[in-house]
Amino acid sequence: MKIAVIGAGVIGVTTALELASHGHDVVVYEKGSGIAQQASFATAGFIGPAMMNAWTAPGLPFKTFRKMLLGAETHAFHGLTSIPLSWFWQWQKASNHPFYKLKLEALQRLAFYSQEVLTGITEQYGLQYESSQGCMLICRQEKDLKAFQLQLDLMTDNGISFKKLDPVETRKLEPALSEEQSFHSAVIFPNDAIANCRQFALLAKQQASLLGAEFRTGQEVLALTPDAPRSVRTAAGFTEKFDHVVICAGIHSKALVKHLGIHIPSLAVYGYTLSSSVRQLIDAPVFGVMDAKHHVSIARTGQRIRVSGIAEIGLNKKPPEQCVALLYKVLNDWFPGAAKTHEAVQVWRGTRDVLTDGVPILGHSGVKGIWLNTGHGNHGWATSCGSARAIADMVSGRGCEVDLKGLGIERF
Ligand SMILES: Cc1cc2nc3c(=O)[nH]c(=O)nc-3n(C[C@H](O)[C@H](O)[C@H](O)COP(=O)(O)OP(=O)(O)OC[C@H]3O[C@@H](n4cnc5c(N)ncnc54)[C@H](O)[C@@H]3O)c2cc1C
Repeated sequence: MKIAVIGAGVIGVTTALELASHGHDVVVYEKGSGIAQQASFATAGFIGPAMMNAWTAPGLPFKTFRKMLLGAETHAFHGLTSIPLSWFWQWQKASNHPFYKLKLEALQRLAFYSQEVLTGITEQYGLQYESSQGCMLICRQEKDLKAFQLQLDLMTDNGISFKKLDPVETRKLEPALSEEQSFHSAVIFPNDAIANCRQFALLAKQQASLLGAEFRTGQEVLALTPDAPRSVRTAAGFTEKFDHVVICAGIHSKALVKHLGIHIPSLAVYGYTLSSSVRQLIDAPVFGVMDAKHHVSIARTGQRIRVSGIAEIGLNKKPPEQCVALLYKVLNDWFPGAAKTHEAVQVWRGTRDVLTDGVPILGHSGVKGIWLNTGHGNHGWATSCGSARAIADMVSGRGCEVDLKGLGIERF
């Protein structure tokens, strides 16, 4: 079949790879000049089910709202009009227990499956990209651990391995942790990992091209129209008809399908990473480390240290370089000698497309031939390969290997 994929972030590229490996004729449209230049550009790199956080939890919306109003460093909003109250209301509803538990389970299931598919693809095509094994959550105080307890209970129920450590045990595994920083405990997730999203996306694109997928960069697709939803029209004036169209356009997916009567309740939540060369390997983290209080991660990928965090609603007009003080602080708290922060540091502001219930939309849109693989929020790298395989299986009329309960568009 002839299939169009719209968007060449990690979701679009992996979808194209899976569809091409099923023998379809695939055309990928990307409005940017290259692959993985938007949300997939400089992610923190976390993959695996343990760190999945749907950003829904009992009481979380009001806590977040309060933090934003009080101007906490971890959260920010810019301009009162940027607070979409209906979105907050739906978020509040989705955060109620046990709804929240079902969503987190769905996300963990998808991330677990995705990791299996990623490992399979890596071996099958012999891909080599920067990666390291193991992630760790560090709790400054007991209350940080308590806040994570519901998630740990769910992991126990679902067979995800972890181990709680006291500070002495933690320092043995992570010897570069600053001696000056005291903390309560850590939780280690041996099966989660860190890997370079953009590097993987570029390799997956090469592989998809070898299988016949065509990547048309610099081609913006206009919103799909009800009279001919499977006719892809570009801003440059070209039109082509397909048997199926898969929407993988990140935060722009909403606008692409709105004239088809498909409502995607996504919100742009901005985040930051700073990336800098490793100063001394001995001072760098071994694991992907997450500071539970500030929700800031620190990880080494290859010769780089990457620090990531912050949730902003409404575009901050300040240059990204002026918005990352918290990231420097957390890095200096835990690994003060790890990175060459006095030299060229890449500071990146990325957009997470976050849905009201924090899990992606995967499946048929309800309009003939139009499929959705979007709304991946804070976890699109971790869920990419599994989502791509599931969509390719569905489009090809095969059964899915993963249970997608709770991930369809019909839930909205
Ligand atoms: C600071 C930060 C840290 C993160 N860390 C992690 C992490 O550790 N682990 C993890 O799993 N996830 C992480 N994420 C989330 C992850 O980055 C995203 O979920 C993922 O990259 C989404 O991929 P995507 O392909 O859906 O979107 P994108 O990468 O944004 O790709 C969408 C593409 O569609 C194109 N497009 C849009 N509209 C059109 C159009 N009309 N025509 C043609 N092309 C179009 C865009 O140009 C873009 O290239 C992080 C995000 C941020 C912001």
